[in-house]
Amino acid sequence: MTSSVVLHPQREKSLLRHHPWVFASAIDKQKGKLRAGDTVDVYASDNTWLGRGAWSPHSQIQIRIWTFERDEVIDNGFFLRRIEAALEGRQALIARNGLTGFRVVAAESDRLPGVTIDKYDNLLVCQLLSAGADKHRAKIVWALQKCFPDCAILERSDVAVRKKEGLEPLVQVLHGEVADEVCIEENGIKVLLDPRRGHKTGFYLDQRDNRAIAASYALDKTVLNCFSYTGTFASYALANGAKKVINMDVSQEALSMARRNLEINQLDVNRADFIQADVFQALRDYSSEGRKFDQIILDPPKFVDSKAGLNRACRGYKDINMYAMQLLEAGGILCTFSCSGLMPTDLFHKVVADAALDAGRQVQFLERLSQAADHPVASSYPEGYYLKGLVCRVL
Ligand code: SAH
Repeated sequence: MTSSVVLHPQREKSLLRHHPWVFASAIDKQKGKLRAGDTVDVYASDNTWLGRGAWSPHSQIQIRIWTFERDEVIDNGFFLRRIEAALEGRQALIARNGLTGFRVVAAESDRLPGVTIDKYDNLLVCQLLSAGADKHRAKIVWALQKCFPDCAILERSDVAVRKKEGLEPLVQVLHGEVADEVCIEENGIKVLLDPRRGHKTGFYLDQRDNRAIAASYALDKTVLNCFSYTGTFASYALANGAKKVINMDVSQEALSMARRNLEINQLDVNRADFIQADVFQALRDYSSEGRKFDQIILDPPKFVDSKAGLNRACRGYKDINMYAMQLLEAGGILCTFSCSGLMPTDLFHKVVADAALDAGRQVQFLERLSQAADHPVASSYPEGYYLKGLVCRVL
């Protein structure tokens, strides 16, 4: 028999709206012995069955709901159905963009809390970030092998949030042979990535559409690509006729990969620079040197990890956006992003507007950008929306 918990009165509301999290503070009574990752039935205070989830004793989010259907059992078939449904939902996107790399499962938004799965050619890379996901690893691997019989599977659970679940960081091969390097293609651009050591699961798939949009402004332009990582914005820009792209990142390894990415796309490496620098400092220096660019891309790492850090993050965003605006020629284009889920969209827009004021520039917002469609947001789970961006014209 499945163990169960009963919630405090009034604490069932979010579950009735199919939000998948149960906080420790909502739980009144616990029946039966529960270990990390165990499946648990959740009841309202009036004993109405609400959902079935995974027990995370070390986390504030003590239960993550697997299913809101009472008859659904958390077995191999459950994971297969979820993964098949997620894949089905992406077929149109895969066909439209000629993708060989895409997110197969986006955790809570694909009704698999804590489970992220990316596909890079014939390699699946998964992150299992919750106690429940960790517990059901073998079932997930079984389901993946059914759906993708030709794929190797790598686990990249080397993420700090596992600590909150009482889990250690982990990198391991789960099936087959994992190459040191993989090449994918999106929108006709090839991307080399290192699945074992690259960021996240190896690459930033979520920026795919935004790279194409940014590149559409790049013809004959000099582009400063800040936080360039492995240079995919640069590959797109040069393929779209940019005169010059300056890639800037703190990581020399990422810059070396950026150069190789231009080479495999047969783009002119002489039209690119690769500068290892701290963007915050370099933008200041360029500003005092009076340097000018036609287009600047700002795609920084996540600045906000907690609500308490939001003010500091705003200062960081404002700083780089203000300097970038100062560095743009009249009519220049700024493509600016925030991948911090805790940064509300309207606040991000306000920060960019404040940066324009401080820069003494008049700015138009031309396009509002977000994460690619293989990173969907469940309507019951607004937290799934994290990437926002603006294309700005600086007058
Ligand atoms: N634009 C990239 C993804 C950027 S990820 C793409 O499209 O794939 C963020 C990058 O910022 C990382 O490569 C990281 O090395 C770099 N980074 C972090 N802090 C930095 C800083 N202060 N200055 C320069 N680069 C930084």
